[in-house]
Amino acid sequence: MAPKKDKSDASKAPLISITAPKEEDFPSWYQQVLTKGEMLEYYDVSGCYIMKPGSYSVWEKIQSWFDGQIKELGVQNTYFPMFVSSRVLEKEKDHVEGFAPEVAWVTKAGDTDLEEPIAIRPTSETVMYPYYAKWIRSHRDLPLKLNQWNSVVRWEFKHPQPFIRTREFLWQEGHTAFLTREEAEKEVLQILDLYARVYQELLAVPVIKGRKTEKEKFAGGFFTTTTEGYIPATGRGIQGATSHCLGQNFSKMFGITVEDPNKTGEKINVWQNSWGLSTRSIGVMVMVHGDDKGLVMPPRVAQYQVVVIPCGITAKTTEEDKANINNGVEDIAARLKKTGIRVFADTRDNYSPGWKFSDWELRGVPLRVEFGPKDLQKQQITTVRRTTGAKASVELADIETAIPTILDSIHDEMFNKAKDQFDSHVKRVTKWEDFVPALNAKNLVQIPWCGITECEDEIKDKSARQNSDEAEDERAPSMGAKSLCIPFDQPEGIVKGETKCAACGKDAVEWCMFGRSY
Ligand code: AMP
Ligand code: ZN
Repeated sequence: MAPKKDKSDASKAPLISITAPKEEDFPSWYQQVLTKGEMLEYYDVSGCYIMKPGSYSVWEKIQSWFDGQIKELGVQNTYFPMFVSSRVLEKEKDHVEGFAPEVAWVTKAGDTDLEEPIAIRPTSETVMYPYYAKWIRSHRDLPLKLNQWNSVVRWEFKHPQPFIRTREFLWQEGHTAFLTREEAEKEVLQILDLYARVYQELLAVPVIKGRKTEKEKFAGGFFTTTTEGYIPATGRGIQGATSHCLGQNFSKMFGITVEDPNKTGEKINVWQNSWGLSTRSIGVMVMVHGDDKGLVMPPRVAQYQVVVIPCGITAKTTEEDKANINNGVEDIAARLKKTGIRVFADTRDNYSPGWKFSDWELRGVPLRVEFGPKDLQKQQITTVRRTTGAKASVELADIETAIPTILDSIHDEMFNKAKDQFDSHVKRVTKWEDFVPALNAKNLVQIPWCGITECEDEIKDKSARQNSDEAEDERAPSMGAKSLCIPFDQPEGIVKGETKCAACGKDAVEWCMFGRSY
């Protein structure tokens, strides 16, 4: 949030700074950048947090871009209630089994027990599909493509973490129905591409696209596709967003059928997808880019992209120069604003420039513009990148064209840095003895894999046990490795009938990526 233009003397105000180094105490660092960087406030219900304007504005950017994209695909927005009766929730057995432990129930109204407890949606398949059955009467009603921007509640018992794992979270959930499997499968991948673009083109966070294993797929679905990210500081993987093909499982349970347009009298169960992207994306962005000075915001989602600060005014500066500098700052901001840049002119006269620099670094504003006596004289501005601190001069006459170019190059620089870190921490391993050491060195590990669920369970067990036997170091968590995805982009090297699963020795089918994860 923009600081107030307070007139009291705050020049001696203590500097707020991050006291926990990212590499040494990541959990405290994460808490501090979020709270001191004005993204988030803690709340008195565990696992729930307040999103302040600094983070909500990021969500608005994601929302507006993604909403535009899905509307191009013919998706319409709707709103369904947050409550669901137990009778409907329990209709798809695998689905309810997957979600049951996390469902929150309303059991009372005031002092009175409800006759029938009512669940709060953990996701809306069961809320929406009875109405899909009602609305889809003929193949002419297909495809049906609806989305909602809402919150869902999952009473998670795993350690909650702001944005990453919260008990209530904001997301969009798309629910679509098609006549054919081909159409459904095509859309699953179109949406996955959009998710990858949210991460890469808006948040400057690289992701790997792939398919979830049977064990990790969406409860009750046919198959799940995913974008997987990587947090360099902890070496852990994180699921970015998922696009599920539900197949015909739900349409069978909910009776969503149409008459086959090609064979009169025959019924077809529709093919369905559901897909979701949550506010977790904001946490991933913070974890990937932030540094010991605070947040580092990717320019395309930053609440403020540029802050303009008057500098170099001393006791010797003439009144005329002072006025010219202050007017210059307002003028620069006004011109940038006109070109669509989100800019803040920090003309507070009760803080020193140095204090302001640190304050805006903490909030992660991508570009600082300094304007002082020398700049005035040379008719230029001085730009300072939040990423590297690199300084440059830009002719005052050129700012409308130069600043957008700089912001784009900051985006590219942030993305490339994160991509290098990700790429250099994906290790391909073909022998089990190399697996845990690679994990312990903060890598995600790709292995030739058999595709068998029991083997996947074993991998989790073995990678947890081996590690905790080894060392007492709590920064190398004893948590076992989960499968993250079977990457679409498959490395070479698997020969059918020859290459063996690195974990169990049976025939390998595909490369699968494993890692400790959030
Ligand atoms: P799902 O419906 O389980 O596939 O979840 C859809 C997306 O929501 C996932 O890809 C996650 O990124 C995100 N998500 C799941 N659980 C949480 C949570 N507790 N807090 C924040 N985001 C979540
Ligand atoms: Zn195996």
